[in-house]
Order: sequence, then C-alpha cells, then structure tokens
Amino acid sequence: MNVNQSAPPVPPFGQPQPVYPGYHQSGYGGQPGSTAPPTSYGAYNGPVPGYQQTPPPGVSRAPPSSEAPPASTAQAPCGQAAYGQFGQGDVQNGPSSTVQMQRFPGSQPFGSVPLAPVVSQPAVLQPFGPPPTSAQVTAQLAGMQISGAVAPALPPVGLGYGPPTSLASASGSFPNSALPPGSQMTGPPGPPPPMHSSQQPGYQLQQNGSFGPARGPQPNYGSPYPGASTFGSQPGPPQPLPPKRLDPDAIPSPQLNELPPQQKTRHRIDPDAIPSPIQVIEDDRNNRGSEPFVTGVRGQVPPLVTTNFLVKDQGNASPRYIRCTSYNIPCTSDMAKQAQVPLAAVIKPLARLPPEEASPYVVDHGESGPLRCNRCKAYMCPFMQFIEGGRRFQCCFCSCINDVPPQYFQHLDHTGKRVDAYDRPELSLGSYEFLATVDYCKNNKFPSPPAFIFMIDVSYNAIRSGLVRLLCEELKSLLDFLPREGGAEESAIRVGFVTYNKVLHFYNVKSSLAQPQMMVVSDVADMFVPLLDGFLVNVSESRAVITSLLDQIPEMFADTRETETVFAPVIQAGMEALKAAECAGKLFLFHTSLPIAEAPGKLKNRDDRKLINTDKEKTLFQPQTGAYQTLAKECVAQGCCVDLFLFPNQYVDVATLSVVPQLTGGSVYKYACFQVENDQERFLSDLRRDVQKVVGFDAVMRVRTSTGIRAVDFFGAFYMSNTTDVELAGLDGDKTVTVEFKHDDRLNEESGALLQCALLYTSCAGQRRLRIHNLALNCCTQLADLYRNCETDTLINYMAKFAYRGVLNSPVKTVRDTLITQCAQILACYRKNCASPSSAGQLILPECMKLLPVYLNCVLKSDVLQPGAEVTTDDRAYVRQLVTSMDVAETNVFFYPRLLPLTKSPIESATEPPAVRASEERLSNGDIYLLENGLNLFLWVGASVQQGVVQSLFSVSSFSQITSGLSVLPVLDNPLSKKVRGLIDSLRAQRSRYMKLIVVKQEDKLEMLFKHFLVEDKSLSGGASYVDFLCHMHKEIRQLLS
Ligand SMILES: [Zn+2]
Repeated sequence: MNVNQSAPPVPPFGQPQPVYPGYHQSGYGGQPGSTAPPTSYGAYNGPVPGYQQTPPPGVSRAPPSSEAPPASTAQAPCGQAAYGQFGQGDVQNGPSSTVQMQRFPGSQPFGSVPLAPVVSQPAVLQPFGPPPTSAQVTAQLAGMQISGAVAPALPPVGLGYGPPTSLASASGSFPNSALPPGSQMTGPPGPPPPMHSSQQPGYQLQQNGSFGPARGPQPNYGSPYPGASTFGSQPGPPQPLPPKRLDPDAIPSPQLNELPPQQKTRHRIDPDAIPSPIQVIEDDRNNRGSEPFVTGVRGQVPPLVTTNFLVKDQGNASPRYIRCTSYNIPCTSDMAKQAQVPLAAVIKPLARLPPEEASPYVVDHGESGPLRCNRCKAYMCPFMQFIEGGRRFQCCFCSCINDVPPQYFQHLDHTGKRVDAYDRPELSLGSYEFLATVDYCKNNKFPSPPAFIFMIDVSYNAIRSGLVRLLCEELKSLLDFLPREGGAEESAIRVGFVTYNKVLHFYNVKSSLAQPQMMVVSDVADMFVPLLDGFLVNVSESRAVITSLLDQIPEMFADTRETETVFAPVIQAGMEALKAAECAGKLFLFHTSLPIAEAPGKLKNRDDRKLINTDKEKTLFQPQTGAYQTLAKECVAQGCCVDLFLFPNQYVDVATLSVVPQLTGGSVYKYACFQVENDQERFLSDLRRDVQKVVGFDAVMRVRTSTGIRAVDFFGAFYMSNTTDVELAGLDGDKTVTVEFKHDDRLNEESGALLQCALLYTSCAGQRRLRIHNLALNCCTQLADLYRNCETDTLINYMAKFAYRGVLNSPVKTVRDTLITQCAQILACYRKNCASPSSAGQLILPECMKLLPVYLNCVLKSDVLQPGAEVTTDDRAYVRQLVTSMDVAETNVFFYPRLLPLTKSPIESATEPPAVRASEERLSNGDIYLLENGLNLFLWVGASVQQGVVQSLFSVSSFSQITSGLSVLPVLDNPLSKKVRGLIDSLRAQRSRYMKLIVVKQEDKLEMLFKHFLVEDKSLSGGASYVDFLCHMHKEIRQLLS
C-alpha cells in the first residue's frame, strides 16, 4: 500500500471549525444526544480571564517558641547553603535568607482526638531534493589537530574575562586520550607555555593544563577536575602516546599551511566558524516559519521546535503530538545498527494546541464502537486500504483482510478511495478521537467524574513558612477554575481535603453542614478513610463549608509544634478515598520534610555526596525503599494520579518521594527554602496552572506499528505491567511518552512504516474516549536518506532520557561514555558512507546533525551527569525525573538556554531580540541580557551599562546601587522598562513552569550561578567547552574510522 499520497483536497474539518456535519453525534445511531462536544480541549487553553491572585493575609507568623531548637539532622539548613539550591532544576531566592530550623520534641495537639467535631533544521527543506551539502567545518581544520607538538606554543586567549578557549585547553581537557596530564608541555621545542601570564586574577593553572577559577579542594571529588576522566573510550591509566598515533595529528593540513603566519601561530578555533545553534534556529525560522506545515506527505521533517508555525492535519499527526528522531528509517536492522541513530518517537498525546488549530474531532460510532482490525486491533485510520468495492479493508499494520460492517459500508471512487473519506476524520486526518463504549471501561461500567483531593502538610515548617495560609487562601478562589469539558458551566470534578503531619485529618464538607467536621486517623500503619459521605463534594454545592474549612485550617494549626510527617499513608489515604468513591482522580500533595515519623514508607536521611563519581552513585537516584513502587502500582490500578509540591528546607529524598508521582503520570514541583515573600508568585502560578490543566485519567496508551518495526522501549512518567501497554493514572497536556523502535523484519521503501498511538482515557467530565494519532514514515536503503531526515532536537531528547534512566543502574561515567561513543559512531558512519571523500583532518557533520556535538555536550555536563559542588542530591533527582517527560521544545531550551541581549535591538521593535550563543564571550559589559532555560530566568547586567539604562530599568542611579539577586523589576513608565518586563512575561508564558527572575550583576558573587548556564564554556564541574568537546568528538570519530 502506498501512503505517499499527494495532498488531498482540504477536508471540511481542516479549519478550526467544530461542526462536523452529520457525523460525530447522532449520525451513527447508537447514542442519541451524545454528550460529546466536538472540541473537547479548547476551553481550557490559556489563562482564565478575571482570575486574580489574592495576596495572603498575615503571612509572617512568629515561631511558636523561642527556645533554641535541637538540630534535627546533619543537613545544612537553607541559610547555610548559599549556593545550594541553584542547580539547573531549582533556583531559589538569590542570597538565601536565614531560616532557623526548629524542631520540637514530638507534641501532638490533634492526634489524640478520635473524632472531634471542629468548631473552627535547514536540510529538512529538501527531503526529496538533492543531498544537502555537509557542514564542512574546514575552518577548524587547524584547530582540530590536537597534538602535543602544537599545544605548548599556544597562547591562552584571554578575551574579556572568559576562560580561554584554546587548543591548549582542548588537549588538556582529555587526559584520557592517552596524554598524561600536562604531557603537552613536553612537546618539541617551542616557547614555554605562557599560561602563567594569563591576566586573569583568580584563575590558576590547574594540574591538567586547563584553566579554571581558583577553588578550594572538593572533598567529594577524586581530582580537581572530575569531568576530565569521563572522556575517551580507553580505560586504564593514561599512558604515553605512542609516536605513531601522534603522526596524523602532527602533520599540518594544507589548510593550515595556507593560513597567514600570524594566524598560524594562534591556532585558536574561531567559535564563529563552528556550527552555531543560534544560526540553525534563525535559518529554520526564516525558511519555514511563514508557511503552514501540511501533514499530507509521508516522511516530512517538520520545522524545528524553536520555529513558530501552524499545522494543517491532512492525514498525519501534527508534530505537536509526535516528533521522530528520523522521518526516514533504514529498511534493515543492519543499516540501523551501522548508523546507530536511535529510532524513537516523542509522543505528547494530549498536547495543547494554539488557538488557530482545531482540537481533534470526536467520532461516535455508537454502540458498535470504533472500527478496528480484527487481528492487530489497530483503529480505523487514513492508511487502511478499502478493497472489493468497499466491502472489506486491508489493515495497513498487519495486512489482515477485514469485513466492513454494513453500517460502515461506503462505495469507492475510481481511485479506490471511499467517497466519504473526507467527511470522516478517521479516514482523512492524522489525529482524532473515538467515543469509547462500555467495553473500554473498567468493570464494564462507564466511569464517574474524577475527583481532586488536596492533601496539606500542616507540620511546623509548613505553618511557619506561611505556606498553609497562602495555599488555603488561594484554594478558595482556585476551586472555581477546575478543568471543565467543552462548554460545561461548571466542572464535574469533585473535591476533598486532608491535612496531615504524623496523623491524618479528614474533613467532612457536606453542603448540609453548618461547619466542616474533622476526623483524625492516627493509625497510619493501616490507613482507612473514616468517612464516605461528605468527603468528596461538588464545589458550588459545598462552597460555604469549604470556605469555612480553608479559613480555619491555618488557625487550627497555627501553634503546632509537630515537625514530623508521614508521606506514604497520605497517598494511601487519597487512593483509598478514590477507590471508595469508585472514581479516578488526582491527589495534590503539599509536603515539606523527610517523612521520618513511624509509618509505612518512613525514610531516613541517606544523602551522601561522597558517593559521587563512585560505583554507588546510582543509589542516590534510586528510591531507598520499594514501598513506594508498590503503592504507585495500587494508585495506577485506581487511576489515582499524584502531583507533589515539595517545600524542603533540607534533604527530603526527592528520589524516593517522586516515585509515586513519576509512576502515576503526575508532576513534581520543588521550592527549596520556601518563603512566602520570595516564592509566592512562582508557587501560585505553578499551582494555578497545575490545577486548571486538562488531564486524561485512568489512561492506557498503546503504540502499534506496521510490520517490520515494533516499539521496544518506553520513557516517561507512567507504569508498565507488560511490555506493550503504557499505563497512566493521569496524563496532562505537558507530558510526553518517548518510544523507541527496533526492526524485527525488513521494511519496504514503497510502503514505508506506520505508527499508530492510541490513548484510552477518561476525560475531566468522566467520558471514556480514545485518542488516535497516526504517522507515516519513509524507509530508505541509502544511509544518506536517514541522515538527511533526522531531527537533532528529538535525538537529544531521546538520548538525554536514555542517559537519565541509565544512571539508575550504571555508574555515571559509563553512561557518559556510552553517549559519547554512540554519538561518535553516528557521525563516523555518516563520514564513512555519506560524505564526499576529504582529508582525514576535516570534521564533517551531516547538515541535520551539525548541532549534535554541542547539544550532546550540554547533556553530558548537565547536573545529573556531571554535578557541580553546589548541586544537591535532591536537585539531581528532581531534574532527572523532570527531564523524563519533557517534550522536545523543553529539552531543547533546558540543555541549551536562550540568551537574549536586551539593548542591542531598537526599543520599539516588537519582536523578541535575536538570541546569542550561550557563552561568556558573547556578553558585552555594556549590555543587559536575559537567560532562560524553561526553569530558570536570569537578568545579567554588565558593569559598564549606560547609566540611563540602569535608571530606566531599576530606578537607581548607578550599577553599584542595583540589588544583586533582585527577583522583581520595578514597574516604571518608560519604553525600556515596559519592553523588558513584557519580554519576561512573554518568556514565562511560553513555559510550562513559572520561571523566577534573578538579577545578576557582572562580577558579583551570584554571577557563578549564571555562568553555570553558559553552556558553550567550560564548566566549573569540569564539563568541556563546546570547542574542546568538538575536538574530542573529532578525535573519537577518527579513531573509529582508522
Ligand atoms: Zn491489523
């Protein structure tokens, strides 16, 4: 079957127009007056107008006692960790305010009350055209000659105040490449290494010849440069380089000879001549941003995630739902093995769409349910082939011939197409939904609407930080904005409330009550739900009682001295409550501390940074008990999704606490050292978005493929009890599931390969639905076609997830080496099979993958794989689980942050300023920059910024008066201030989590944090600079080719 169809006439539902004449509702008999709204998700997009944030009253409550508290653990509390919360995952409030941790011997004011009533890419453009030219990085030729003979002659290039990017540091960075540390100093005659003359106060020459700021020894690292040992595939101690290996490197290439003498002696790789992410992004925007992406043609590579474009569904799923590492996959597994390019799809089944694009149409086939292949159970889709005058169809996935049921029969036109093809979404679109019949429901019963349960830690820390008061105040209004279906007037979702410390307090908020009632369960070992009636209620019916409860909670616990908490029993309780109510739902947990109280799931502090760079490092990422996996499994069976909001003042064991959210499709948010004054905006913004988010509950996802390939591996926040079904207690519009495919047979160039992702889920209104996404890919017998149709951003998304899962079971060094080796193999295979013959000294990268080295380096030096001294164990676990379900746009900016100069472009310009490369060299000290990575947002101010600019933005008269660490810009009535604040708002609106602003002044202490995100530079934790890493990759590739 040939699915390489030409673009069909625009179907009637190609426009954002919800009416689907005569089809989706009464047309097919079964359920008269179907409740399915044609567009199910449109209503929840974007912010809800008129929803105001209410500042909390009385946020600063004095601690209940002034006694000196005994230290509870060995952990440094927030105030001491000046740098501690600033990993990639979580940025805190600039200089931490001092928070005295207090702990009181276990008093328990509420525990004893048994039941008390409460009284208060460019090449993608020509997928079918001539092969694009390779990115031949010839200008680097000289620079790539990594050689002991040349290196000593290199002067460090001290531009500005950046660490030098020179060949010397390039070879010095990789002692594993058989050069002993410092061996480049012993080369043939030449001027002595001039490194000592570096005019950079505070930087000293390190043992391996590289530069870095002077730092004290780090007890947790074996060497001052721990990252260095992770490169190279040659294990064992460094040995002197055999002369033979030096030879190819030492021979100057013709290009080198052609250089003018002056340049020849510098040998500096010009960063402008190596592939630039900024340029690639710009080019794609210019080339592909203006035309809609029409999905009618098989195997088309979509525009990059950084390009704004509209999608017209003409038979394949939009790239907003599915992105692939390659859109042209090798016909044989041998070819795939040779290329080493992972074949993977990053799928976001419930992705939110821009307003201009229509949500998937809902198709109702009545009692007969969706039409499927009898053998492989694939759903009817545009690629099914109707035969025998329309009486039968051949499955495009397994080739089985099926009868067409009489009620679905339709004649074929002269081309063999059903005459009604363009009237039916399932015959002409890439994405659509079916209403599910009762056969698709648990226990053969249509589901009840889901419920939300808010479970609030009311221990001492939660009360003292102002969290409980803030949260309760917010919930009063937020409950009006629970997700709704289509045009529904109010949400069908019911709500319930629990508070807890060492014991749990359930609340009866039945509408008939004058006041809420509290029921305490202190037997946390055997959790049960003490009430059924009145626990889960409709918000509008019980509004008065709920408001009263939310007013009373902060008062009830205001004087608590209880510092200990439980955790697993809280989740257990929420899950049992949903079970008792026979519905799916979501738990919102607001939790502050390591659950050390005696209870199931009790944890101990096992944080140990000494494990970093040892074989036991993986234990830092593993849960410390299996209890949470067991609990998660029960939650999944009940359709109970858990979202966790953490407010830790010290180690809370994110690796363990995030197990249930991770396995139930939930989210984790972390606000280290939470203080209302500093963090309220960020927390409330995340909370609002999270609560209003559309969620599919009790979901199962299956990916079917045409013969020849099959899904073999899955990454994301979900649970799997077999090898094919991805079980998701909940799935929201931000979460992706990444699927890897392998060959199990030969593919056919003519028929291509097909994917069908089917997600069965319960909507917010309790409707059972199936969402189907189809995608057709090309298959090739020439490797060049594979390399021409790859997408590096998706490749990096997959590789990061693969690596981040790998650290659970393998030493981090092994994981890093695996990534480097795979990347080198991918590029070496291209060089060997696809590139035109050229000098071995040339690094040749495929056009579609020319950013692979720079992006891979960013993954390698990320906090999970190469943590700096300031990154906590919890930060790493947090980032690890975040990345697991990120989409391609999120990983793209997370690993390579956006750096925007603010005063270079005219103030009047309405568009975002063009980004610059994430390197210190790109910073001008007379300018101001914004840097964002989806989680963090910095405003960097150069020391020589014009006084007028300082005045316009900060309302102070000089640079020195700017408060370092500032998180809010003053609201000033001038064009620059408006522009910058507007830009900050727009950046925040683009991301799924609120990014808190941190103002960083040049040469200020906080600048260290900021520099962590300048990913093209060498990092403090030993991560290589882009130039160095490119040299290293080149060497690896040459080794593979020789
Ligand atoms: Zn089939």
